[in-house]
Amino acid sequence: MAYLTLKKINKIYPNGFHAVHDFNLEMEKGEFIVFVGPSGCGKSTTLRMIAGLEDISNGEFLIDGERANEWGPRERGIAMVFQSYALYPQMTVYDNIAFGLELQGADEDYIDEKVRNTARILGLTDYLDRLPRALSGGQRQRVAIGRAIIRKVGIFLMDEPLSNLDAKQRVTMRSEITQIHRETGATTIYVTHDQTEAMTMADRIVVMKDGYVQQAGTPYELYFHPANVFVAGFIGEPPMNFVNVVVKDGKVNVGGAVLDLAAKCGDKISALEGKELVFGFRPEAIVLGEKENAYTLNAMVELTEMLGDNTNVYIKMQEDNAILKVDPHDTPEIDTEIQFSIPYESVYLFDKETELVID
Ligand code: ATP
Repeated sequence: MAYLTLKKINKIYPNGFHAVHDFNLEMEKGEFIVFVGPSGCGKSTTLRMIAGLEDISNGEFLIDGERANEWGPRERGIAMVFQSYALYPQMTVYDNIAFGLELQGADEDYIDEKVRNTARILGLTDYLDRLPRALSGGQRQRVAIGRAIIRKVGIFLMDEPLSNLDAKQRVTMRSEITQIHRETGATTIYVTHDQTEAMTMADRIVVMKDGYVQQAGTPYELYFHPANVFVAGFIGEPPMNFVNVVVKDGKVNVGGAVLDLAAKCGDKISALEGKELVFGFRPEAIVLGEKENAYTLNAMVELTEMLGDNTNVYIKMQEDNAILKVDPHDTPEIDTEIQFSIPYESVYLFDKETELVID
């Protein structure tokens, strides 16, 4: 049985705004789930309903098979880390971490052992006597995490915990949080708008948009089998390229090249005749020049960005713009024409109207 179950959860705020629509999810014990999506898509609202900080307007929330809609935050066995870590400035790291257990009236030896163990997990042992102002942003965030994980809880919720850190600290903390999760084994839900955080940390990702779940799956599933245009464009950097096409005699025109869709879809193409589609391919899923079992296209190079490990090549194909990711040694000249190929299996077709992927 799933540890956490969200069944058709809805949130309608008192002002009538419907922020979350029919959210379904089953979570196993110990899973690390990431909610990701653009600002305002309902991630925090969903997290707050799970935490018991926000009423569930409609639907059922189960913990270990028991209805928990009406349970208070404490009964749910939840610890939460927010974006603003709000440490007590006049207390040492030790006291900040110990605070929750002291409130519960735990005995001193027990608290001491727990604080030192938590500090060890978080690499804070040498900082226990410091005040928060004498710590870096990343260290402060670790104290906030320590304060949350010191209590034995079943569910650990984090709402954009890294957004106050600089890019380098975020990368470090990302792997530290993954490590902490491995050590504690706590079932974790992590909210972010950053797809890289989602891809690198999650067992499973839930992609949201406008209050609706777009797709839930492993990072691999979301990257290779996106359910719709939104997920395809959201996961991956630079994002997937999209070109609007119309199927005519089984063929589509992409930037002046007439591509025979039967090569990719076989007989199934007849069902698509006359349809408007979105033709998608990832910047990194191409090879320069010609290739077998691939569509070959021509494009003008408008701009190149050499990033060290690869070069982003901004191209124009008639009316359409796209980005290609190439080996830096193959960086083409600006204003020249290049040829590139997209393997059939790396082409995604979406229904233009529903935006759903066509298998
Ligand atoms: P962000 O990444 O910006 O935090 P989010 O995905 O977490 O965004 P939520 O904070 O869950 O989004 O908000 C979802 C929607 O609900 C937004 O449009 C927001 O304006 C709206 N909303 C949030 N709180 C309330 C409220 N108390 N009353 C009415 N609407 C609200």
